[in-house]
Amino acid sequence: MAIATTNPTTGETLKTFEPLSDEALEDRLARAAAAFAGYRLTEPAQRAGWLRSAADVLEADTGTVAELMTTEMGKTLASAKAEAGKCVKALRYYAEHGESFLRPKPADAEAVSATEAYVVHQPLGVVLAIMPWNFPLWQAMRFAAPALMAGNVGLLKHASNVPQTALYLEELFRQAGFPADVFQTLLIGSGSVERVLRDDRVVAATLTGSGPAGQSVAAVAGDALKKTVLELGGSDPFIVMPSADLDKAAEVAVTARCQNNGQSCIAAKRFFVHADVAEEFTRLFAEKLADLTVGDPMDEGTQVGPLATESGREDVERYVADAVQKGATVVTGGRRVERPGWFYEPTLVTGVTPKMGIYSEEVFGPVAALFTVSDLDEAIRIANDHVYGLGANLWSDDEAERQRFIRDVQSGMAFVNGMVTSYPDLPFGGVKQSGYGRELTEVGMYEFTNAKTVWIG
Ligand code: NAP
Repeated sequence: MAIATTNPTTGETLKTFEPLSDEALEDRLARAAAAFAGYRLTEPAQRAGWLRSAADVLEADTGTVAELMTTEMGKTLASAKAEAGKCVKALRYYAEHGESFLRPKPADAEAVSATEAYVVHQPLGVVLAIMPWNFPLWQAMRFAAPALMAGNVGLLKHASNVPQTALYLEELFRQAGFPADVFQTLLIGSGSVERVLRDDRVVAATLTGSGPAGQSVAAVAGDALKKTVLELGGSDPFIVMPSADLDKAAEVAVTARCQNNGQSCIAAKRFFVHADVAEEFTRLFAEKLADLTVGDPMDEGTQVGPLATESGREDVERYVADAVQKGATVVTGGRRVERPGWFYEPTLVTGVTPKMGIYSEEVFGPVAALFTVSDLDEAIRIANDHVYGLGANLWSDDEAERQRFIRDVQSGMAFVNGMVTSYPDLPFGGVKQSGYGRELTEVGMYEFTNAKTVWIG
């Protein structure tokens, strides 16, 4: 894929970038390693100060960076501003809590025959972050804020269709006052990732993206024995039981499926509705989906913009056509919107069976698959019959049902009577082929630290 800004609202390519030459890449790697030698010796309080400055710079830049994101990948301007706001919060969260996360944790010295024993979390070194375009600021920030707070140095290989947002991130940390080269953006294609990952100066990697990209990075990292965190795909279940507030559940279902124009790893993609309320819920859900305003993401009233890429829309069209051909029913939507750009109608599909791609894969667009189930056990059984295990949603006022859902659903995150969302204050990540490792909180910060045991006799 060329490194370029192509506006999904018009299909027009606005700016292209040359990938870094071999010499320039070598220079960046050398600078990252040199930066780590000094940065690891800085005090946590100092790093917290730089994070606070980064939050202030980003807050002031919100309007311009939001427009950039909307231009590069088509999310609505309102959601782009909200994304920038969330990054500001994450920066402030790690500025506020990072120092205490990094304080040595005393152990029971007497039990280990020491005069003193403790665990100290030290930075690992230069970490490569390979990131996707769907939340171009947030995905990178989820890595950068804790990693820089811990004393690591970051190299960002962002998705090829968001180069200007990627360059903005490097500029943000520079403007915030971080020492030179502590966070660099590498404009490189995915074909150059292996070279960077195998380089001795790079100690670990994190990838957020698709399963195939995760497999490829994990294979190289495994061969080179380097630590990785993987945040991969998802096909989150959204279960609705008879005790649920149906109107509220349908309203949140629309947001959970269509947020970010349907392109979120934690979007609810499969809806399991109890037979007693299936007809009513389907009607409410379809009405609310049809009511969404699809249009130019720069317009204030727009709720759903275009898909980020032309091939992304073709994938969505293929999934719906395959389901229809195998007997599914399109209750609402199901067509591209006839205007320039890569728009697709919010869509509800029922009558889904295991033979359809929509059952077993991830549809990265505003298409909901609805299943009618006879009880919670059936809902959880089908929900778990999937390679992914990222998030899961349940709507129920029955305490026993809630506890069964929390115990049995195979996912990294379980949300009851609300949609799966990421917060700096809660760990984020999945199980099964949704990846491994966690981001956010102290758990995410410790992924790229050396928990060093110290014993003093
Ligand atoms: P993608 O094609 O896997 O791209 C993600 C990043 O990986 C990009 O920077 C891409 O570079 C790079 N990449 C692709 N193939 C690679 C390879 N073989 N080796 C090394 N790097 C490679 O994913 P996407 O289409 O942008 O994003 C959508 C996917 O990400 C969905 O499956 C979604 O669920 C998942 N996602 C997961 C999370 C989570 O937290 N679990 C969050 C957001 C998205 P190029 O752009 O240059 O190809």
